[in-house]
Amino acid sequence: MDVQTIQEALQAAGFYKGPIDGIAGPQTRAAVDAALEARGEAGPKDWKRWGAKRRRDAYAQLLMADLDIEVGPIDGLIGPQTRHAIEVFLHLQRTGRKPEPWRDHVPDDDDPPVVRNDWPRQRDVQRFYGNVGANQTRIELPYAMTIAWNTRQTITGFFCHEKVHDSMKRVLARVLDHYGEDEIERLRLDMFGGCLNVRKMRGGTRWSMHAWGIALDIDPIRNQLKWGRERAALARPEYVPWWRLWEEEGWLSLGRARNFDWMHVQAARL
Ligand SMILES: [Zn+2]
Repeated sequence: MDVQTIQEALQAAGFYKGPIDGIAGPQTRAAVDAALEARGEAGPKDWKRWGAKRRRDAYAQLLMADLDIEVGPIDGLIGPQTRHAIEVFLHLQRTGRKPEPWRDHVPDDDDPPVVRNDWPRQRDVQRFYGNVGANQTRIELPYAMTIAWNTRQTITGFFCHEKVHDSMKRVLARVLDHYGEDEIERLRLDMFGGCLNVRKMRGGTRWSMHAWGIALDIDPIRNQLKWGRERAALARPEYVPWWRLWEEEGWLSLGRARNFDWMHVQAARL
């Protein structure tokens, strides 16, 4: 969200009396601080330890949350969820309405069968995996990953559904085997874009597969949701082994199956 939009919101809320000039100067910074302060418990907890840009982004997240746009945690970090929320926000601003869902298509029965692991179809995930957010376990990664939207942070594990844990671990071990650490880093296969995340599908109204911890996003910056194979990095030939290793375990790439959301792989069939 640009500075001008934030200034306008701050002005409308009575925190800002300066010019709407798109420049994040001292007056804007003070207004953002006042606005965050005013949220009290409803606002982020640690914001006083953050820099000016992150505070401003957190305030932008609050503005979107106020509009019932699903924005994720108010943490001032622009991850894939916030990025999508901004798209929704801009659309709302431009047209007065939120964008129509485009992910609610229920595919027909003649999709190709999977090789191994009888993962359920998307419509049956609740029956197979249980309630969203339940039955999660920590996976210890065979190679460290970097948080894609906060690249100073490395992780050695994350939470996923217990039924997919072993399979995911096998795949990642084979990925390490196949590519090696240097190549993994060069290809950004260590750019973690999220696994468990109890949220609705971006661009849809149903639960995301991430809500069950059965989907993994990789390198979201270079594989944005609506990009097709001509733009998405993970559509390039050097990633074919990456996808084969997942597909051998029955996982599904939305990129390979539907040519969008190339960042994403899931343990559910369409
Ligand atoms: Zn995903």
